Amino acid sequence: MSSSQRLWLRDPIAVLAEGAERGLIVSDGVIVELVGATGPQSTYDLVFDASRHVIIPGLVNAHHHFFQTLTRTHPRAINKKLFPWLQTLYPIWGRELTRDAFRLAVRVALAELLMSGCTTTTNHLFVFPADMPDAVDIEVEEARALGIRIALTCGAIDLGFEEGGIADRRLMQDHDTVLADCERVLSLYHDPQPGSFTTLALAPCAPFNVTRPMMVETAALAAKHDRRLHTHLAETEDENDYCRQQFRCTPVEYLEDCGWLSNRTWLAHGVHFNEDEMRLLGGHGVSVCHCPTSNMLLASGTCRTVELEASAVSVGLGVDGSASNDSSNMMEAVRHAMLMGKLRYGAEAVTHLDALRWGTRGSADVLGRFLLDDLRFSGAGDPLVRGPQRRPGDGRRTLACRRWPTGRYRSRTAPIDAWRGRQGLSLGSVACTRYQSGQIASKTRRSLLIFRLLLWPRWVPTPPRRTRSNPNGSGHRQISHDEGTARAPELLASLNVQ
Ligand SMILES: [Zn+2]
Repeated sequence: MSSSQRLWLRDPIAVLAEGAERGLIVSDGVIVELVGATGPQSTYDLVFDASRHVIIPGLVNAHHHFFQTLTRTHPRAINKKLFPWLQTLYPIWGRELTRDAFRLAVRVALAELLMSGCTTTTNHLFVFPADMPDAVDIEVEEARALGIRIALTCGAIDLGFEEGGIADRRLMQDHDTVLADCERVLSLYHDPQPGSFTTLALAPCAPFNVTRPMMVETAALAAKHDRRLHTHLAETEDENDYCRQQFRCTPVEYLEDCGWLSNRTWLAHGVHFNEDEMRLLGGHGVSVCHCPTSNMLLASGTCRTVELEASAVSVGLGVDGSASNDSSNMMEAVRHAMLMGKLRYGAEAVTHLDALRWGTRGSADVLGRFLLDDLRFSGAGDPLVRGPQRRPGDGRRTLACRRWPTGRYRSRTAPIDAWRGRQGLSLGSVACTRYQSGQIASKTRRSLLIFRLLLWPRWVPTPPRRTRSNPNGSGHRQISHDEGTARAPELLASLNVQ
């Protein structure tokens, strides 16, 4: 199958898109038609019978710490809130985190994210033991090998236990080394092109782990290079107390004082804001990544998602580090966000579509990569990663890709993401799980089944199956489930956009 051949993903059980009751047609790595109830309006060359599949957007993870993957459910750290949890784990990370362990942790985290339907992720990296000054480079290698889009961050901790912080000195770099390495990786890896697979932001860990000069100079460096900024903020009441004691202000006031209040900043957690602070953040275009699973595990509190959005703060979703999540399951994060939202605001106030919106368009917005009008295939799909673009004339934020100006795509079309495995396997934001093989496919199918049950009432029902001849007479042939599975690498390689 050549990349220009048009493949109809026909008659899925359900699809999270209006006007796509009978599936999608993809060509050259992009969705070129949402197939409505009357069937395709354009030609196609191949058919994949998707009648045993569901189609969902790829999910976007806006906060994680890959290095924590190997210390999840650590017996000494369980049943603790944030500060004692960190005080328990920092010495373990300082002692055990080696270069090889880090690479393995990154690989596991990325694989788990992919298996849970996540096709774009960030990683908040702030630990740099002596033998891994190239930690960011390792992340790039692993992400490229798996084919996931990654919004890397280069962070730091420089306030150790001896200076009144809680971090382990063995994980730190000195101030000059941190800033020099930020400059190095920015120049090496940040690709500003729409649809790029690698971007890079700057991300000191948190006010209680980083000195004030580091916060200030990182913000200046981000402004100089026009890059995004990320840190933890207002995760717990303990953090608020720490800021009041150390800085005589709230975390948000401290952030403002360090020059961080701008639309380049996204914050992890944002649990303990008051109304004035939320309005201040919204007014500056600061966004928040809600991490429901971590917040529950550490009993940190509940992110006030509804009030944040009402204050014009963009809300995305993240799994947070595996040590405070016990997994890297982005689908689980969506579900937990929905459940926490319902618990706080009521059954009708936060819906499954709200949670999905946060985990797709919201996270994309938080990462500054793309803007969308509505859900559709807004996850980690290429439309998202290919970047935002206003559709000429309609004045609305809309899905776009680099080919948009050609007029080839309608407003309801969306490029398809590609999820490429080590052997060239792919699974796009069009998550036709049979495309994958082996364990990943099995686990993904399970996740999608759960997700389908979660979303069923609002999903577009598929018409009864029928046997159809080619309505276009274009000589296409149908491929079976088995053939589709066997030919997965070939078919999906053709969907890869880069
Ligand atoms: Zn975190």
